[in-house]
This record gives sequence, structure tokens and C-alpha cells, in this order.
Amino acid sequence: MTLTEIMQTLPYGPAPEAAQPAMDWLKAHKGKFQLFIAGKWRTPASREWFATINPANGQKLAEVALANATDVDKAVKAARKAFVEWSQTRGHVRARYLYAMARQIQKHARLFAVLETLDNGKPIRETRDIDIPLVARHFYYHAGWAQLMESELAGYAPLGVVGQIIPWNFPLLMLAWKVAPALAMGNTVVLKPAEFTPLTALLFAEICQNIGLPPGVVNIITGDGKTGAALVEHPGVDKIAFTGSTEVGRIIRKATAGSGKKLSLELGGKSPFVVFEDADLDSAVEGVVDAIWFNQGQVCCAGSRLLVQEGIAEKMYAKLRARMEKLRVGDPLDKAVDLGAIIAPVQLEKIQRLVQKGVEEGAKLWQPSWAVPAEGCFYPPTLFTEVAPASTIAQEEIFGPVLAALTFRTPEEAVRLANNTRYGLAASIWSEDINLALDVATQIKAGTIWINSTNLFDAASGFGGYRESGFGREGGREGLWEYVKKIEQHRTAQGQSSARGLTAKASAESLPPIDRTAKLFIGGKQVRPDSGYSKAVHAPDGRLVGEVGLGNRKDIRNAVEAARAAQEGWRKTAAHSKAQILYFLAENLSQRAEEFARRLSEQTGQDGGAEVEAALEALFTAAAWADKYEGLVHPTPLRNVTLAIPEPIGVMGILCPDDQPLLALARLAGTALAMGNTLVVVPSPLAPLSATDFYQVLETSDVPAGTFNIVTGERDELALTLAEHDDVDAVWYAGPQAGWALVEKASTGNMKRTWTLPSSGPLPDTEEILRQATQVKNIWVPYGA
Ligand code: NDP
Repeated sequence: MTLTEIMQTLPYGPAPEAAQPAMDWLKAHKGKFQLFIAGKWRTPASREWFATINPANGQKLAEVALANATDVDKAVKAARKAFVEWSQTRGHVRARYLYAMARQIQKHARLFAVLETLDNGKPIRETRDIDIPLVARHFYYHAGWAQLMESELAGYAPLGVVGQIIPWNFPLLMLAWKVAPALAMGNTVVLKPAEFTPLTALLFAEICQNIGLPPGVVNIITGDGKTGAALVEHPGVDKIAFTGSTEVGRIIRKATAGSGKKLSLELGGKSPFVVFEDADLDSAVEGVVDAIWFNQGQVCCAGSRLLVQEGIAEKMYAKLRARMEKLRVGDPLDKAVDLGAIIAPVQLEKIQRLVQKGVEEGAKLWQPSWAVPAEGCFYPPTLFTEVAPASTIAQEEIFGPVLAALTFRTPEEAVRLANNTRYGLAASIWSEDINLALDVATQIKAGTIWINSTNLFDAASGFGGYRESGFGREGGREGLWEYVKKIEQHRTAQGQSSARGLTAKASAESLPPIDRTAKLFIGGKQVRPDSGYSKAVHAPDGRLVGEVGLGNRKDIRNAVEAARAAQEGWRKTAAHSKAQILYFLAENLSQRAEEFARRLSEQTGQDGGAEVEAALEALFTAAAWADKYEGLVHPTPLRNVTLAIPEPIGVMGILCPDDQPLLALARLAGTALAMGNTLVVVPSPLAPLSATDFYQVLETSDVPAGTFNIVTGERDELALTLAEHDDVDAVWYAGPQAGWALVEKASTGNMKRTWTLPSSGPLPDTEEILRQATQVKNIWVPYGA
């Protein structure tokens, strides 16, 4: 026998990692765990425990406490108490604790990896080489931000108590993504791990004890969905950070609506994996293996839709089938296994049901010739070809090792197919033509794009979704904003540089009322409101100063349609041209400054002249930022540049505050426009006339039709229509707190971003508005000859 023949026929021998150290650790705890609250292990008030099972063999690993609402309350109170000192602790001290966590995780890396594999069923190769090293990296990286917070985030403070709810697919990694930035920024944490995978979080709690972390800074409460719901609803929580299904994300959005709690949601996906005909096919095949069979496909950003250019489709499928035939499914502790166990029977049934649906809907199924182990929860790698774009398996998140393949002919078609989803978490693009790859990357609506690579993660790069994949970012500088708030005094100081504190001047008293009814401004034209009604506008002393059209649902729909039609063009308009248009707006406003000042004084009884000046300055600021709000290049490891690019959100509804109506319009709408968004603006119902006068400024300033639409009317009625509208990507609502809840609840349809502000008081500063007006896309570009 030749050496080649021996190598080709050599069977795989088992190479299992020893489970004993992890089993010993479980035994040391007598196989039963309490809740980790205020630095101590506490018996749950519920007196209930539940089992956590090894999905690879169905055996019980341990019993874990089930926290109820009383336990949640205790944990939140402990976190609140700890916040008093922790938030005042110097950045350097917090950095030392985070550093200690990183070191401890590295020192116990093997134990963590084995425990994770036992509890979750994912291959040891992944926990050992990916999950745990990345966990340590997140703590190191954020130790750095704790150190730098005082200089780099001057003027920002921690939020308070953060409730964090994580899923079962990356149990310790998701903990790290959430706990590390929260602590770095001076928050305290109550974390609920997933029911299926609580063990590594409990080991982490032990590490917190060992390093002497002040009691209450990290609290770990195990439990079920009800525990999570109690945490979400607890009034003592300042922010909820959630990763999991879009369905539960929606419930949480509704539950926190109007509460003032900050929220970040990292939800599901149906990410495209796009292969152009000039791609390096062998690399692309390895990419697919990583994209859909990593963690058995139970990955939020799994490349579950393979889009292949028609000319190479059959060749690609053939290579893929050959590769699939060689994959190994089995004991996750075996170091030579590619795919481990599915998390639980319920998930296995979901995968089987969706695969059956795929067959019924006419797609062609292919699975390798070998069988998966009969014991335990296993599913083979699966390829569907001839998949129709609208079919269930092309649209629904399967969360299993199932790939749905579709073909395309042109780059335009690839982009259309890639974006034909309600999600927008990630995408992978394969082409040797970097021009094409980057061009397509900018057109795909997703938070992370990998070029000639896939599933690259690093603490220095933000991760998070567009559309129904959620909002907020985890990792990178952009992820820090989720855990801080502007210090109020700072904001007030900024606000004073605007027209705040204007002295009341009754200059309008001597002027006669102006009898004129303004129309709406939609698609670049002044149009009558659909209702045919108008609404009176009064001065603070009760005099009638004018009338505006009473817009309704239909007007909003027309305005959204116009804004959507203009979106692509405006997004692609060069930043320099956007700046030019904003300067032109300022120029034309300044020509009519006196008229605007008079009108403002009439409506508000304040010094209109000062407000016009402040509005001009705001437009200049927006113009200045149009070509200067830059992205970052994240220093991720490997030979790689990761471009973090702020992109527009899309079509935005802006409901303006009552104070300083013109300044608010200029600052909020001007900045959103500068960032490439198209707008439907609802002026303050108390002082809408400055906005309606603004039509003429818009008409003379080269603002493309449909980019900036204005609908006057009842604020909450119009806000509700905007929040419910599936083609609106974000709503900013300034108004009474009851309206916050209305908007936030109604926004769950397409999980649009919302930003709620008081109807009066200082306006947010430009920096905050710029962040709200954009979403960061990370494009990973590896290089190497
Ligand atoms: P969920 O979204 O239900 O669970 C995520 C986390 O939220 C868990 O800790 C869960 O607790 C908790 N939770 C459940 N209900 C509530 C609630 N009402 N309020 C607050 N917290 C709650 O995901 P599942 O684990 O049930 O998985 C279902 C499907 O979701 C999967 O098939 C998959 O398609 C998708 N999924 C997507 C993930 C992603 O990263 N995109 C991650 C996980 C799942 P508990 O575990 O105790 O139920």
C-alpha cells in the first residue's frame, strides 16, 4: 500500500476531549445551582429548579434555579445598590476588573470550552477555538474602553442597571458581548442566560466572585421566558439588551414602549451568501461550510441563502455536495467532528418541519449518503436547490444546518434577491473583482458584510442588524453608545449655544393676524390635505395667526411613498452635493430671515430673530457634517481591514417638538437629511407655520422632490400612522410621554428604530442626532496575495 492509499483509506479514530474536569466542577456544586445575586449564591424565592440537558446524549447535567419576579426584583435592587459606587469607580479600576475577567477566562479556557460543549452541543473545536478566545478578547478590548472612557467619552455617563437577556446559541459569547461593554461604561448588570444553556454563565459568576468584583455589579439569574419578561418589565431597569428571536424582540419592544428604557435588539436573520462567477470557488465552498454549518447553522447571521451566479451554479453545487459528503456529524466532544448536536428536540422538530415544507414547496433536497447518530439530537447538513425566492425556506429563519440555494444572472438581480428579506443582519460576497464586491456591499441592506469571507467577529467591530434584525450595535466604538447617556448639564450647556433662553418679546402684539391656509408639502409640491380640513394656529395670547392643513393617514401614505421613491437617489447623492444643498437652504432662509423671525415671534411670543439665527447655524452644522461624519477602520485581527461605515437609516418620520419650532426643524431634519435619509416631517401642532413657510425655502434650494415632505395635523394621529407604516425605517417622536408608548408599540411591525424626546426643553445636540440618523455597516475586507 502506498502512503497516499493509506492516507485516503485511513478511518477517523475518535479524538474525544475529556469531559471529566467539567463533570468534576458540576459535582463540586452537587449538580445544583442557585442564583447569583449581590455576589452570593441565593436560593430562589420560587423554590423551583429545572434541569439542563446535554443535547448530544439527552443526559441531565445539572439542576438550575428558576428565578421568579421576586428574585428578579432582588437582583435589580442589588444592581441598583452596586451602581452607586461602581458608576463612580475610576475607569482604570473598572479596566482592572475587566482585565482580570479576561485573564481568568483564558486560564480556565478549557473548562469553559468543555462545559459549553456539554451544555450546548456545539463541537469542541468551535468552543475551544472560536467562542472562548473571542470571549476573552471582548473583556480585554472593553477593559481598554473602561480605561479610555474619561477621555474618549467625556460628557457621557453610564445608564444605570442593565437587564440583559441572551440566547442559547453562543451562551458565553453573548454574555461577553453584553456584560463587557456594560461594565466598562460603569453600568451594573442583571443577566438572564437561556434556559437551555445556563452553565457557563454560572461559571462566569464564580469568576466574578474570585476576582473580588464588588457585590451586585454582575447578577446572574437563571430561569425561563417568564424570568426574562419580569426583567424587561421591572421599573428599576434602565436598559434592556436582548439577543434572540424577532418574535420575542417584538414582545420586548412593546413591553418597554413608553417606559423610557433604552433598548437594543439583536434578532434573527436570513443572510445572503452571494457568489459571483469570478469567485474562487474552492474558497467559496469552504466559506459556505463556515456560513451555514458553523454551530449547526444555529447562528443569527448564518449564510442560509446561497445566491449563485447562474453560469457557475451547477459547478458550485457539485463541489458543495462533494464537500458535504465529507463532513462529520457526531459527538461534539470529538475534536474531529464538524457538526455537533442541535440544541433540543423542539429545535430539531422545527428544522424537520421547515425542511418538509421546502420539499412540499417544490425545492430539490440533497443530503449526504451517511446517517447521523441515532442517539441524541442530530441533523445532517442539507442543501436545497431550485428554491423559489418567495418560498418559506428562502424567507424564514430555519436556525439549523439547512442551506437554500437560488441563482441570479446580474449583479443587480443579486442585490434584489439579497435584499428580498425582512431581515438585514449580515451578508457575504464572493468575487475576485473588488470593485464589484464593494459596490454590491454598499447596496445590500445589512449590518455586517464580509467580502470573500464569512462569520468573522471581533470585539473591535460592531455587530447588529438593519430592518427586522433589530437595532443597536455590539462591539466596536459604536457599541459603547448603547451603554451611556449624555450628562444632562452637558446637554444644557450645549443647548444654550442655540436659541434657548430667548427673552420673551411681544413684538407680534402690534401685528395683525395673517389669514392664510398653508397646504401640505409632498413630493416637492404643495398639495391640499386629503381631508379638506384645516386647523387653526393661535398665538400664546389666543389670537389666530394662521391655519394649516389637517393631514390624515392618506397624506402620510403619500408622503412616505414620495420619500421612498426619493430615497435611493438621495442616498447616492455625493456627500459634497448634500452639503451644498443644505448650505443653499441656509442661504435662502437667511434671505427671508425677517419674515421668519416675525412669524416665529407671533407663534411663540419669543425672540424670533435669535431663533432664525440659531436655525441658520444648525443648517450650517448639518451641511458641515454631510461630508465629515466619517466611519472608522476597525483594527480587527488577521490581514483585514474592517470598514465601519455610517449609512442612512432610510425613510424617516420626524415629529417635531413644540419649543423653538424652526430650530428644531433645522437641527433634527437638517441633520437627518445630511446623513442621506429622506423625510416625512410633522411640525409641532402648536407652531407649525414656520415649517409651512419653509416650503418655499425648500422649493428654491434644489432639494430633490420627495426628499423632504411636510405634513401638518394632529401629532399623535400622524405619529401612529408613521409608526405603523412598514415602509418607514425610523420614527423620531418629540411629544408627551403617552405618545412615546404609542409610537414604540406601533413600531414593532417592521421593528423600525424609534427615538423619543420631550416636547419641550433643550434639543439633543448634533452628535446625538448624527448617531440616531445613521446605522453602522461593517464591511470586512481581508487581503493577501
Ligand atoms: P427566544 O427569543 O425565545 O429566546 C431568547 C432569550 O429570551 C432566552 O433567554 C429566553 O429565555 C428569553 N425569553 C423568551 N421569552 C421571553 C420574553 N417574553 N421576555 C423576555 N425574555 C424572553 O429564542 P428561543 O430560544 O425560543 O428560540 C426560538 C427561535 O428563535 C429559534 O428557533 C431561532 O429561530 C431563533 N433564535 C434566534 C437567535 C438569534 O441570535 N437571532 C438566537 C436564539 C434563537 P428562555 O431561554 O428561558 O426561553
